[in-house]
Amino acid sequence: MEETKVLLDMDEIPKKWYNILPDLPEPFPPYLNPATKEPVGPEDLAPIFPMELIKQEVSQDRYIDIPEEVLDAYYQIGRPTPLYRAKRLEKYLKTPAKIYYKREDVSFAGSHKPNTAIAQAYFNMKEGVEKLTTETGAGQWGTALSLGCALFGLKCEVFMVRVSYNQKPYRRILMQLYGSTVHPSPSDVTQSGRKFLEQDPNHSGSLGIAISEAIERAVGDEKTKYSLGSVLNHVLLHQTVVGQEVIKQFEKIDTKPDIMVGCVGGGSNFSGFMFPTLGQKLRGESDGTRFIGVEPESCPTLTKGEYRYDFGDTAQLTPLILMYTLGHDFVPSPIHAGGLRYHGDAPSLCLLHKTGHIDAVAYNQVETFEAGSIFTKTEGLVPAPETNHAIKAVIDEALKCKKTGEEKVIAFNFSGHGLLDLQGYSDFLENKLK
Ligand SMILES: *Cc1c(COP(=O)(O)O)cnc(C)c1O
Repeated sequence: MEETKVLLDMDEIPKKWYNILPDLPEPFPPYLNPATKEPVGPEDLAPIFPMELIKQEVSQDRYIDIPEEVLDAYYQIGRPTPLYRAKRLEKYLKTPAKIYYKREDVSFAGSHKPNTAIAQAYFNMKEGVEKLTTETGAGQWGTALSLGCALFGLKCEVFMVRVSYNQKPYRRILMQLYGSTVHPSPSDVTQSGRKFLEQDPNHSGSLGIAISEAIERAVGDEKTKYSLGSVLNHVLLHQTVVGQEVIKQFEKIDTKPDIMVGCVGGGSNFSGFMFPTLGQKLRGESDGTRFIGVEPESCPTLTKGEYRYDFGDTAQLTPLILMYTLGHDFVPSPIHAGGLRYHGDAPSLCLLHKTGHIDAVAYNQVETFEAGSIFTKTEGLVPAPETNHAIKAVIDEALKCKKTGEEKVIAFNFSGHGLLDLQGYSDFLENKLK
């Protein structure tokens, strides 16, 4: 019988994170101080991040040890996670392609995000930090950080994009259960928030604004630091547990993926999933795999953005980052895949797109929900609206194989489940999606 799922033993969990920086085809472009245009140093970042994460952000070491206590928490939330074969989807599509998906929905927070949330909470706790602030879009990141903070005894304050705060009350409740304080953003508890509320009391918010609020909060208090759920090097670094497990899982079944697919919001789940394999390619140890990042047409950063230095947030509090960007004041339409509504993308991923190592495609909301509902009917799982983007691209690639008869191996990151996104599915079923 052909494999249905590939499991790893507990002792096969990766003991190190993989850092792609030393393997990049061009030097990593430094973050710049907006006033001086000089590279920012560790001391510039120290008010908002703990030193260990700042070191990881600029490290040129290919591997970084995962502390015991972080590994312990990884076990607790379900790592190593299974790799599944989507045999029923293949049959439905009548494709000769083999489709595999990595189950990052099995963690307590329902997405890949705890992989970094846990690590970040741990390193902050180690340096005596008492509270973390952050922003959240659809609420998955806020939930993940709330979980991480709960596991390591930290307080947590979350600024949640207002449109999601209203659309997704269950995630707010989950965060509150973990002990966090949650504000709709823009809020009236920060200067940057009040500024946007004055312009429009019903402002629907954006990730950029919420980031500004969370940073302002952290800068104002010594025992409080800020935490980011995507984009930065240390976040992508922590997510590489996913892709290292995937390499081991494919080795177990003596297969290699021809195509690796992931949805792209800020780039962390896609990068964590495929950087370890792309690293092998960059070092000349393997060849052949193609990488496809998938984004919404309403926020087409990699496919339509400009490659230039831009702020990471709307209020221009962050350093300048060289990335594909739609502009730091871009406010995307309120689609259900709230986790994909960021104006920029991880600078390492952007560099690899610019150098032609990664392809990008964009789809509209309706076709991604169609793809997700096919997945639910065939495989039985309800994907997150973000994950539906990856599934749409996978189905398209599998249908190409049907035409050509190629038996390609296609793998994607099942970045999260959609059990708290049923309103989006309801709109889809009633033909109300835009
Ligand atoms: C947050 C999120 C994403 C997008 O974020 P990335 O940093 O690009 O991974 C994708 N899928 C799910 C389920 C998410 O929660």
